[in-house]
Amino acid sequence: MKPDFSKGLIPAVLQHWTDHTVLMLGYMNEEAYEKTLEDGVVWFYSRSKERLWKKGESSGHVQRVKSMTLDCDDDTLLIQVEPMGPTCHTGTKSCFGDEPASPLLSLEAMIRDRQAESDEGSYTNYLLGKGLDKIAKKFGEESFEVVIAAMKRDREELKNETADLLYHLFVLLHEQGIDFSEVEQVLHERHSKKNNFKGERQDVENW
Ligand code: AMP
Ligand code: ZN
Ligand code: ZN
Ligand code: ZN
Repeated sequence: MKPDFSKGLIPAVLQHWTDHTVLMLGYMNEEAYEKTLEDGVVWFYSRSKERLWKKGESSGHVQRVKSMTLDCDDDTLLIQVEPMGPTCHTGTKSCFGDEPASPLLSLEAMIRDRQAESDEGSYTNYLLGKGLDKIAKKFGEESFEVVIAAMKRDREELKNETADLLYHLFVLLHEQGIDFSEVEQVLHERHSKKNNFKGERQDVENW
């Protein structure tokens, strides 16, 4: 089924695909809709710019489409998305709230960008170029450094080593073709199971 563009622009609501937060509202014309289908990321027709607008065209914070649903009379779209950074240009997760966007998303988007740009000087590309053994080895080293910092109770060192660890974990996931949202999905499922079966699921109750 295709949206009904006979009365002009149609509203498209963006909703986070795992936690269901309402992220933003934009408008689409037929071309924006077709481009969205083609690209797998959201395009709008911007009423202020008066042109097609790929959400994230300058910020890099594109919205990857997970599902699209038409309303009862085909003139409004609900798009479930995986955002590649803050959805709002003010830097928040949603345009309708002040919750900060997860910095982990920006980390993931940054790693993708580096590879897309094939920037020779970047450490990320150096690691990706070396391949899995090198990346896994670095991750192992960083986890050891986290342990050492914790044993020393050195808070500054622990924060720094944790940042190193997370960065290398994201490079590792990228190398394996795993999106962080897939990990979020697992966490989300565990969390909902935990709420559904209070006390029954020992394995998920324990953390
Ligand atoms: P972007 O498409 O994320 O590269 O943003 C480009 C420009 O579009 C920003 O500088 C804002 O002016 C505008 N913009 C981006 N995101 C939003 C939003 N969620 N709501 C309204 N305007 C936006
Ligand atoms: Zn409607
Ligand atoms: Zn906004
Ligand atoms: Zn380190």
